[in-house]
Amino acid sequence: ETTHFGYKQVATEQKASMVADVFDSVAAKYDLMNDLMSMGIHRVWKRYTIDCSGVRSGQRVLDLAGGTGDLAAKFSRLVGEKGQVILADINREMLKVGRDKLRDKGIVGNVDYVQANAEALPFPDNHFDLITIAFGLRNVTDKDKALASMFRVLKPGGRLLVLEFSKPTQEWLSKVYDAYSFHVLPKMGQLVANDADSYQYLAESIRMHPDQETLKDMMVKAGFDNAEYFNLTGGIVALHRGFKF
Ligand code: SAM
Repeated sequence: ETTHFGYKQVATEQKASMVADVFDSVAAKYDLMNDLMSMGIHRVWKRYTIDCSGVRSGQRVLDLAGGTGDLAAKFSRLVGEKGQVILADINREMLKVGRDKLRDKGIVGNVDYVQANAEALPFPDNHFDLITIAFGLRNVTDKDKALASMFRVLKPGGRLLVLEFSKPTQEWLSKVYDAYSFHVLPKMGQLVANDADSYQYLAESIRMHPDQETLKDMMVKAGFDNAEYFNLTGGIVALHRGFKF
């Protein structure tokens, strides 16, 4: 199946540079588009992720592919002065928007910003109590490599949370959702951000992303214990959780 971008055919370097172009282009309008496209529901998915994080004061958290920092902002409050949050993203523009947003909100002191590729994390072994990656993993070229890298930098006893689009559990929902993502989203992208292609990419990247069980198996293969997932909004999104014991 060839997609708009010839997605399956592109070589891995091409995928990486395509993802870079997409996020360079959407960075400035990213938050607005997120609210519009998800009708605000991404806030509920992120709240659920925070509730599952078990994060405590003084802990060290990595918000990977953290973009404009919605999760990092919340973790900053939860870990407190003695804790540390690292907002890491491969894309400078997204990081810049995230840093400006958090600083405007007065969130300073315990948040650091690092430009990093999820496939090769520049952190020591056994370093973080918690790693989150929200709507990021599907953009990563080599997901197995990224999961292995996350496992390496996680402390024993730490947990990984992957929030990502997944596969709707009901046939009817799947149809409505496909129509929405392939017809409505690119038009919305065109209208609001003058950028239909990036939002076409979004729909395609969601379609290509591994489903719930496949991602769970990938986490187990990377070494995670007690891997499980929770379907949100009928499986449109799933939260995967795994531990390093
Ligand atoms: N986590 C944020 C949120 O939930 O709003 C941002 C999600 S945004 C859809 C995806 C982010 O993944 C972008 O900021 C992009 O730059 C980042 N990204 C893509 N590939 C990456 C990689 N290989 N390593 C780290 N970040 C990556």
